[in-house]
Amino acid sequence: MNVKLIETIQEMLRFTKDAKHRNLSIGYVPTMGALHEGHVSLMKAAVAQNDIAVMTIFVNPIQFGPNEDYEKYPRTLEADLEKAEAAGILAVFFPSAHELTENIYSFVDINELQNNLCGVKRPGHFRGVCTIVSKFFNIIQPDNAYFGKKDIQQLYIIKQMVKDLNFPVNIVPCEIVRESDGLAMSSRNRYLSANERKDALIISQSIKKAITLQQNGETSPQIIINCVREEIAKVPSAKIDYISIVNEQMQDVDTVENKNILALAVYIGKTRLIDNHIIGEKLCF
Ligand code: AMP
Repeated sequence: MNVKLIETIQEMLRFTKDAKHRNLSIGYVPTMGALHEGHVSLMKAAVAQNDIAVMTIFVNPIQFGPNEDYEKYPRTLEADLEKAEAAGILAVFFPSAHELTENIYSFVDINELQNNLCGVKRPGHFRGVCTIVSKFFNIIQPDNAYFGKKDIQQLYIIKQMVKDLNFPVNIVPCEIVRESDGLAMSSRNRYLSANERKDALIISQSIKKAITLQQNGETSPQIIINCVREEIAKVPSAKIDYISIVNEQMQDVDTVENKNILALAVYIGKTRLIDNHIIGEKLCF
């Protein structure tokens, strides 16, 4: 295999230094592995737009809550390396949790943007994400970093963090990649049983129905949210964690307008899935 597997911070720093020395632009894709076509689209963009592309595979313990799925999160390194290589990634940084997160005393936190949606439902999650992404930005020093719109709150938070802390990196948002039936791709989809996989379709279908309502002139967030709620209630295995319509500051809105985000988190059985749609953008499913 040609893709270079790097497992220590020291070796990654050497790689970065060499790339900088040679004046190569670096594209960077952060992931937790268990790669699917959503990740592949980010990798391909990074490869196409930079001299070299690097990815991280790291299941970050400090972004998981005590009752979340850190232990059972899928870990599929061999298959991931093959996908990385096929996409043209030059190096995969795969550090140990021990080296990256144990015995650290400094954390990066973000205020208002985490006071809604997943930030409230997963306390400490974005502190864990911001801290680890900051460390990776420092170690890899990318020119461009690629984030999926699938994790829309994360994308806005990272953009704000980069602005606030003056990281010299350009954040590139990438479209949500979906299965042919509309389900947003996620590493957690592999937790779903065959029946749950069918049930999970209600998430994208409810978004579609609500957005059709909005496109027909509805501007009340409550009415649009209720439409999603009623659809999801039709599926007994589905339990709503949240449904919200927010602005780019992640605040609930009174009137729905372009660039607002319909965002939801839904449990299908024990699996928590998220999805969203940005109002005004084309619905491609
Ligand atoms: P994860 O491995 O889940 O932490 O995701 C790593 C990156 O891939 C994040 O920027 C995600 O937003 C992005 N991503 C995950 N699923 C998708 C998808 N279905 N479409 C586009 N990007 C995605």
